[in-house]
Amino acid sequence: MSQSNLHAVIGGGGLAGSLLALALAQRGYRVTVFEKRSDLRGKAAPGGRSINLALSERGLYALGKVGLAEKALSQTIPMRGRLIHDLSGATNFLPYSSQSSEFIRSISRPGLNRMLLEEASLHPNIELHFDVSVEEVNQKEKTIVVLNAQKQPSKHTFDLLFGTDGAGSAVRKSLGFEAEKLFSIEMLGHSYKELEMPSLPNGDFAMSPEALHIWPRGTYMLIALPNLDRSFTCTLFLPNDGSPGFNQLISPIALHTFFREQFADALPLLPSLEEDFFSNPTGSLGTVRCSSWTTGGHSLILGDAAHAIVPFFGQGMNAAFEDVSVLCDMMDASTSTDWPRLLTDFESSRIPNTNAIADMALENYIEMRDLVADDAFKLRRRVALELEVRYPNRFTPRYSLVSFSRVPYKTVQDIGGRQSEILFALCQEAGQFEKIDWSRAEQLVSDLPEIHPESRD
Ligand SMILES: Cc1cc2nc3c(=O)[nH]c(=O)nc-3n(C[C@H](O)[C@H](O)[C@H](O)COP(=O)(O)OP(=O)(O)OC[C@H]3O[C@@H](n4cnc5c(N)ncnc54)[C@H](O)[C@@H]3O)c2cc1C
Repeated sequence: MSQSNLHAVIGGGGLAGSLLALALAQRGYRVTVFEKRSDLRGKAAPGGRSINLALSERGLYALGKVGLAEKALSQTIPMRGRLIHDLSGATNFLPYSSQSSEFIRSISRPGLNRMLLEEASLHPNIELHFDVSVEEVNQKEKTIVVLNAQKQPSKHTFDLLFGTDGAGSAVRKSLGFEAEKLFSIEMLGHSYKELEMPSLPNGDFAMSPEALHIWPRGTYMLIALPNLDRSFTCTLFLPNDGSPGFNQLISPIALHTFFREQFADALPLLPSLEEDFFSNPTGSLGTVRCSSWTTGGHSLILGDAAHAIVPFFGQGMNAAFEDVSVLCDMMDASTSTDWPRLLTDFESSRIPNTNAIADMALENYIEMRDLVADDAFKLRRRVALELEVRYPNRFTPRYSLVSFSRVPYKTVQDIGGRQSEILFALCQEAGQFEKIDWSRAEQLVSDLPEIHPESRD
């Protein structure tokens, strides 16, 4: 059967699903998308979900694969580093890179999803169905049962099935990937709450828009990312139980006392704190690992359905988009796609990489909420950026490799471990930047593998 006759069904029209629909349609497949939520197009964002995200190189590259990189870029705000707010309200800027062209970008989640759905709706090969949720998959028959808003079922056939229905994936469950030994979900024990920081009465941003703001407080933190309407979306990450914990912030007084003591400079900029806190949902955070993503030579899960991660490296969507770009590269590698083989190759190449970013994202929570305020960490970070300037092809800090390159996550994790040993050795001995032994540094760095400039693009 030629590709143009193959019918691909996608369960979940979120970020990964809508991008995948475009990628498949552009390659001649007939695509049907079933999305549980109502149509985002022409609607304002619903409150209480993560409404902005950090977009970096991997995500941008994948958007470029469907011709949407420039359009997406026009909706972003550059964030060049972290702006750390200490308890007294003093701030300290830590750049993300030694290179001025390298920064991450804040983008609206519903805005990006809307853009992808709008493009998808214009493509003649794509059919979009909203308010329809996937219930069950029959692998033998190659059929899927979906329910409409009135809970009426309908059955649809497919040649290829993709589950991009997020962390709680119904497709994953129905395909049997949640069997013991194949699947794990590790809850973090910390949750998040979104709060709005509006623009000032004169229309300006309330804080510098060129940074990702962090109020690191050891076991918890507040962060803020800028939006195009000059507001910020703040997110409080806090243990579920503890002191402090979400279980304790149950009254307006407790909430205000906590913010006055911990985030005094942010408090006056959060006029709807109480309303946001008590009406927005508390989002849980966890890591999904699945050792099987494909079955029957025709079905695949990807994105959060296959590998939901905690958000502290800003890579969940980027990794989900990278799934799509890797799939595109594999499809494009031969004139006729051998799907059973491609799906198996895809699974074995992606799982080690998504496991690696899952680990690094967990580690980064500690870095963001605690280490960024620590002098020893700041010294290591400064030395890392200096090593990057001195040895650009040998020492690219782990953060840069994750965010500004497409070097596979597993390779980055391995290199990052060796970099960390070097930084600890140099900084522990020296104690301060001026005393770093740069000839020893050169010796240690020469053992690292060379990173080719093209793999940084
Ligand atoms: C607080 C927070 C901050 C984050 N920040 C970042 C960041 O800065 N950078 C970054 O890269 N990532 C970030 N992420 C991660 C990112 O949101 C996810 O990795 C990304 O949304 C995954 O895309 P997806 O399409 O796989 O899943 P989703 O975006 O979850 O999309 C799944 C879609 O499937 C639909 N669906 C669900 N069930 C069904 C069903 N049964 N039938 C049909 N449809 C269904 C849903 O309605 C949804 O539209 C963050 C996450 C959180 C929680």
